[in-house]
Amino acid sequence: MNPVLHVRAFQDNYIWLIRGRSPDRVAIIDPGDAEPVLEALETQRLQPAAILCTHHHGDHVGGVEDILKHYSVPVYGPARERIPAITHRLNEGDHVKIPGLGLGFEVLDVPGHTAGHIAYYGTGMLFCGDTLFSAGCGRLFEGTAEQMHASLSKFSALPESTAMYCGHEYTEANLRFALAVEPGNLHAQTYRDQARDLRAKNLPTLPSRIGLERQVNPFLRVHTPDVRHSAEKHIGGRLDTEVEVFAAIRRWKDGFRG
Ligand code: ZN
Ligand code: FE
Repeated sequence: MNPVLHVRAFQDNYIWLIRGRSPDRVAIIDPGDAEPVLEALETQRLQPAAILCTHHHGDHVGGVEDILKHYSVPVYGPARERIPAITHRLNEGDHVKIPGLGLGFEVLDVPGHTAGHIAYYGTGMLFCGDTLFSAGCGRLFEGTAEQMHASLSKFSALPESTAMYCGHEYTEANLRFALAVEPGNLHAQTYRDQARDLRAKNLPTLPSRIGLERQVNPFLRVHTPDVRHSAEKHIGGRLDTEVEVFAAIRRWKDGFRG
């Protein structure tokens, strides 16, 4: 049994439904829209046990209040962001035990995309919202390059078998950029072909694995000579630290039309 189901929302958002010990109860991650979630719950005869939010953006929390009109469940989210209807405010190191699901998550503070963004890690799974994407990372809307680099380093240090569930299907576009940064990265080339096949069948490329991300994701590879040299070539100057390399490729990606 697949422990995690996906619900599509908007253009390219994923809302994740995590099954626990009892097969008909789920935790809902980042419900930006209520309608597709309510429909999935009904057609698959699932009962929500909790809602977990990673950050305050509308495409991640916009459906929370409407879901609560149908189901009374606890809502977990970042302590440092304003999200209506949150019942449990979380910080780094907090442990979330979802009642009735037998699932536990550790909370990681991962600022960068937003100032109070959190991620949930447990049972070999990582739910990272818009901080890490497969082969990419979130834009810096509220945080600094330094913060984002530190947040991504936390993810990179997790076991390589960790299944990574992020908030958007951006993998193919991200791989076009990854291969602009590292044209010779064979892992990224193979992954691009796999991602293309999956998307052609309208299947998600997710979850990814942390081990794979370490091989293909340029934002987790700012310590490598290849990524640094490529970033230096792009800006036409020297980059001395990993944070500088990170900032340079993040800006490069912001303007990249692959
Ligand atoms: Zn976001
Ligand atoms: Fe988002």
